[in-house]
Amino acid sequence: MRPEDTPGNLFVVAAPSGAGKSSLVKALLELDSRLAVSVSHTTRKARGQEQHGREYWFIDEAEFRGMIDRGDFFEWAQVHGNLYGTSRSAIEARLERGEDVVLEIDWQGALQIKKIFPHAVLIFILPPSWTELEQRLRRRGEDDAATIEVRMANAREEVAQARHFDFVIINSLFETALFDLKTVVHSQRLKYAAQLRNRSQVFAALDLS
Ligand code: 5GP
Repeated sequence: MRPEDTPGNLFVVAAPSGAGKSSLVKALLELDSRLAVSVSHTTRKARGQEQHGREYWFIDEAEFRGMIDRGDFFEWAQVHGNLYGTSRSAIEARLERGEDVVLEIDWQGALQIKKIFPHAVLIFILPPSWTELEQRLRRRGEDDAATIEVRMANAREEVAQARHFDFVIINSLFETALFDLKTVVHSQRLKYAAQLRNRSQVFAALDLS
């Protein structure tokens, strides 16, 4: 099956760090049992409570490069000095079974995915302002001042890529942003092509194609 013919919907969510992407995707997954998140491979070290195979597959650079050479990734990118990639095995089977998959990846990966899966829905999460983004990074308490400065500089470059995405959600109020995200997912499932892919029996019975 060609990637573009798989019946499941593919959602790709990107954002600068601190915009609230992970919390939004986590809340969305809790509300929507038809949605599965893809577990990426990364060369960065596990943080805190993170588990191998849950947040990421944590591997070393040699293993990662081997996977690149074998063509195991749909996309991969270097982000903040580490390598991250979406493996074919993480999403192919799910999409072929008709399940909807969400990728929480950076903008470089998102644009690569769009080339392989033209029907992928690219969603960019924006913070309401630079001041608010910086405050959120400080409140999170994960990074020192120098790291926050780097993250803010990176965020300016990342946010400039939002124009290439299909949808933009401004995460000012969490509940509103979550509603927006649910709306994008739901409306995608109602598109003619998606309905045709997923409800082929109904369409056939109605002599539609
Ligand atoms: P973190 O290390 O904070 O979990 O993630 C750093 C950045 O890498 C985030 O923007 C995250 O979305 C992105 N990322 C995570 N997995 C992937 C992936 O498989 N591919 C790409 N291109 N980016 C990823």
